[in-house]
Formats: sequence, C-alpha cells, structure tokens
Amino acid sequence: MVKLATMVRFLLAAMSLSLAFVWGAAFSTGQNPAIREAHFVMMNGLPMAAQDYHSVFVVRAQRKVFQRWKQKTLWAKSGKATIADDGDIAKDAGMIPAEAAPPSPPDQPAVNAQTTVPGDGSRLVVLDPGHGAEEVGSVYRFSDGVVLQEKNLNLDIALRVAALLKDAGYRVVLTRDSDSGVNTQDLDLNGDDEVNVRDDLQARVDIANREEANVLVSIHCNGFGYSYLRGTEVYYDEDRSFSANNERLAEIVQRSLVSSIRDAGYETVDRGIKTDVSVLQGEHFYLLGPAVEGIARPSQMPAVIGESLFLTNPGDAAQLRSDVMIEAIARGYAAAISHYLATDR
Ligand SMILES: [Zn+2]
Repeated sequence: MVKLATMVRFLLAAMSLSLAFVWGAAFSTGQNPAIREAHFVMMNGLPMAAQDYHSVFVVRAQRKVFQRWKQKTLWAKSGKATIADDGDIAKDAGMIPAEAAPPSPPDQPAVNAQTTVPGDGSRLVVLDPGHGAEEVGSVYRFSDGVVLQEKNLNLDIALRVAALLKDAGYRVVLTRDSDSGVNTQDLDLNGDDEVNVRDDLQARVDIANREEANVLVSIHCNGFGYSYLRGTEVYYDEDRSFSANNERLAEIVQRSLVSSIRDAGYETVDRGIKTDVSVLQGEHFYLLGPAVEGIARPSQMPAVIGESLFLTNPGDAAQLRSDVMIEAIARGYAAAISHYLATDR
C-alpha cells in the first residue's frame, strides 16, 4: 500500500496539470451535467475516478476524495487542496465484502413504515422540500428523454408527507409548497452582504424557528459525481445540546425509509446515518449545524436531511420515477416523524 502522503503529492501534481494528462481512458460523465470531463484510472490495483467539475478537480480513491479547488468556495480558497472521506465508494463498488460491513445495531425496534402514529394536534413539524426554482438539485435524464429534477421530487414527497401527518393529527408547515425558493424577496438574511443560496437556507431555518417546530425535516434526493453510488442515508449534526435526540431522529428516519423502500420492492443500500461534518469537509450543514461562523441563526430543534435514493444512479432513479416508490418514501418519512414525536418526551 502506497503511503497516503506520497499518493496525495502524486495526485495533486496530476491535478495541477490537467486531467487530460491523467492516464486512463475517458469514461462517460454519466448524467451529471456538472462534470466537464472524467477519467477512470487504476492505481495500485484500485479503481479511481478523476473528474473535472467547473469549480474543482476531484480524484476519488478507495477511501478518500482529493479536491483541488479552481474557484473560491464556502470552505476553501481557490487553489487550496482538501481531502474528504468516502469509504462508501469502495463498499458500493463491491470491493468490501458484505461480511466486512458493520452490522446494523441490534435492539433497535423496527419502525413499521406503513404506520403513522396518531398525534394530539400539539406537535409541529416543519417539512423542507430541498431546492426550488433555479436551484434544481440533482438531475437524471432517462434514455427516453424524460428528465427528473430533484427539486420537483422533493416537493412531491414533502406534500405527501404533510398530508399524511396532518391526517394523523400533527401540525405541519412547509418551507415551500410550489416550485420556488424560500427567500423570495432576495434578502441578505444572514448579513454577509451577499444574497445567495445560504440566505435561502437561512430562510428555511427561520421558518422552523419562528414556528417553534418540534422537528425540522429537509427532504432531498441524493446526487453524486459517481453514478454507481446508490442507496439511502440521513444526515444530522452531533455538535448541539440536543444532539442525542437528533441522532435518534436520524436513526428512526433512516430505518423507516429503508424498510418502506424495501417493502415497496426495491432493495436499497442502507448507507446509515451520517454527521454533516463527515460529508462536508468538516463544515456544518446550514440547516443542521450549531451557531458557528457562517451560520447566522441556527435551527433550534432536532433537524435531519433525508436522502431517500440517489437520483444520479440509474437503478435508484428508475425507482424515483415510480409513483409507488414516491408514495412509499413519503410514508416512510411520516411513520418515522410520528414515531419520533410519540417517544421524545
Ligand atoms: Zn438536494
């Protein structure tokens, strides 16, 4: 096994030239329009992908993702190199046998994904359909020309979750109920003298705080530059005073989504719950994180981001095209949220 430092030096050297000089045949950039150029390379017998996004060169290795930023981003200056974890690439590629994967924790009661526990009208859920308007999220283009956009799926799922929860006796507020952003006035809500997507995220958090929601659930479909990544995962933050509850909410949503999707006939990959900092270079997700620099007003209740399936994976995307699966995902969310609220005090 080559030393990590040597590998990093080598990769950064390759990336600083141009990906055109990285050996290996160019392979399909898949369905992700953000990828300008991509190569598949073997290094020490391990598959790696070198990709040129417009803002960043990325080399994906078995366990790590190496990035060299071409433009300033929220967490890195232009020219800076960063490394992120991504062990799931190896797992999803079948490079780690199933026995080696950690078993799911025992003594976790199964959430019946078909059952929404009745509420008494006192608990309030804020549902946040991710993205909206020009922020489309992930995209999948089927061979027959049909295009799915994540923003529309998120809204479809969230409207169904809202109906299920209201029917069961919960109060529900949606951050958006049409194809729009949430910061519709284009205000500088976080006071950083810019109006951008972070203000739209602040607008979503502000709604949850204003409503004094018991939980904030942001509904997304996953997207990734590597089309073979697939499965179900839920993000939460572990750096807040109520993070134990937050982790419990994430666990319940994860188990409920997985069982609901499987009950609907699709063997989704259970990718488990993940902390926000584990996927965002140590940065917190705006909706989930504590009061840190860059998050003007954090959400004040347990909050999760649900990623039911990958819209960038052909198998998962085919499922997301099915009304039966969208309904199953919605029922999974509603069951999970109601189970959590029934047992959080
Ligand atoms: Zn999304």
